[in-house]
Amino acid sequence: MEELNPFTIAQRQLDQAAEIMGLDPATHELLRWPLRELHVTLPVKMDDGTTRIFHGFRVQYNDARGPTKGGIRYHPQETIDTVRALAAWMTWKTAVVDIPLGGGKGGIVCNPKEMSMGELERLSRAYIRQVGRILGEDMDVPAPDVYTTPQIMAWMMDEYSFMRGYNVPGVITGKPLPLGGSQGRNDATARGGVYCTREAGKVLGVNLQGATAAIQGYGNAGQFAHLLAEELLGMKVVAVSDSRGGIYNPNGLDPRAVIAHKERTGAVADFPEADNITNEELLELEVTVLFPAALENQITALNAPRIKARIIAELANGPTTPEADMILYENGIYVIPDFLCNAGGVTVSYFEQVQNAYNYYWDLETVHKRLDIKMTAAFHAVHETAQQYKVNNRMGAYIVAVARVAEACKLRGWV
Ligand code: NAD
Repeated sequence: MEELNPFTIAQRQLDQAAEIMGLDPATHELLRWPLRELHVTLPVKMDDGTTRIFHGFRVQYNDARGPTKGGIRYHPQETIDTVRALAAWMTWKTAVVDIPLGGGKGGIVCNPKEMSMGELERLSRAYIRQVGRILGEDMDVPAPDVYTTPQIMAWMMDEYSFMRGYNVPGVITGKPLPLGGSQGRNDATARGGVYCTREAGKVLGVNLQGATAAIQGYGNAGQFAHLLAEELLGMKVVAVSDSRGGIYNPNGLDPRAVIAHKERTGAVADFPEADNITNEELLELEVTVLFPAALENQITALNAPRIKARIIAELANGPTTPEADMILYENGIYVIPDFLCNAGGVTVSYFEQVQNAYNYYWDLETVHKRLDIKMTAAFHAVHETAQQYKVNNRMGAYIVAVARVAEACKLRGWV
């Protein structure tokens, strides 16, 4: 049976990189585990007068390079091992784009789709009352992830500010603009991935103008990937999907119309100008670029042999298993690995922190320009390292990131 525990996968990826790099055993073992984690139990008053008990986590994986940074996910299937894996990937992500932060992640086991706004607010504030004791601008800075929003970030920042007794905008990123959010944060993850895709097109000699794309997942990352693949690369997005299924039109899908349809009906399915398809069918379409932008373990040993995309730009975290990675590499499919491809989000989150600390805010053009510089440099560092070591891009990214984190651990005298 293929291993699908995300944390075991994250550890196996690190093990492989450690071997290729010849990492010393103590540093390797240190980097296999989170430095700290907090498990919390949250009583929340529901609208019907009952009290429900929720469980949550915050994992601070490694802070050798700076305060831990990483989103908070609300999901019914959330587990501590998913959060650990995501916290590990955040550590490699901040290192690969070379920003002075470490990696962390948080999560609450809940189904936000079944909760009212009032219940979500009380849950979010309860989480901060427990986890706030280990958060801070110089300690650990959360952000949004799956099913968490700028509004949730605003409640969390407000609760934390009450705990401290003064306004602390820099404790959390992905805030709404009037509360110290950054220009360009909303589409930053997708934009960073689209910049990487542009660079991949250049190194592979693939013309992306008019080329086709498919996107799995239609939330923050997926919707903006649709808009930006069209706007910045001139691509034609022929299929998109969400948790309720996908849609396909070989002539291309208009992003504004699909977004409006999803807002109206709650799903992309049954969009009038397309045929319904399954998520499995979407992944196996013959397209130039496939953007996984949903959850982990979507490309496995089972479906990897049938994937026909030329480039896979992983906006989601952990969408590809190690077995699938090997198959894709053998089949010559160019994978832009998750913690490089989706690092635009944390990069603009870092810009948001910097602006909060300055209390002075940049215009959109400045954010885009600085993001492009960071993503382009990271892309080429990974591409060149992969070529040099004759490994896939995921290992290339690991080698770049782990070397930076290991150097910081050594300089601090930890190992
Ligand atoms: P989101 O909550 O905005 O959207 C998630 C989307 O995935 C929704 O459209 C949902 O319907 C869809 N989905 C869920 N299960 C699915 C399934 N089984 N098949 C197909 N679609 C499914 O979340 P998001 O912020 O867009 O995050 C998506 C991915 O990108 C996650 O892996 C997340 O960790 C990663 N990511 C997000 C950011 C960010 O800044 N938002 C940054 C880095 C990485």
